[in-house]
Amino acid sequence: MKLITKENLLKNIVKDWKFQYGDSSPEITQKLQSIEDPTEEEVTAIIGNNSWMSNICDECGREVPVSVKLGEEVDETELYANAANICTICLQKALDLTNNHS
Ligand SMILES: [Zn+2]
Repeated sequence: MKLITKENLLKNIVKDWKFQYGDSSPEITQKLQSIEDPTEEEVTAIIGNNSWMSNICDECGREVPVSVKLGEEVDETELYANAANICTICLQKALDLTNNHS
């Protein structure tokens, strides 16, 4: 289980990019590394799309500021198997489903 926010997406962008692409995309890696505190707009401009900055709930499909990644954590690289990102509204709905059944 892991908290996903725009802040930690930005904080981990270089690490996550290198983990995904290794040395296969050195130009983008170098640009990402050249900015000390990148903004969402800067990362989107460097990568060419906003897929690395999006935080989409797998239950309701909305772009959200905060979600929790649930699933099986495979190893310390934070790779997940069968993961789902769930927003706070859907987490509350899930809790509501369990009311009177615990
Ligand atoms: Zn949701």
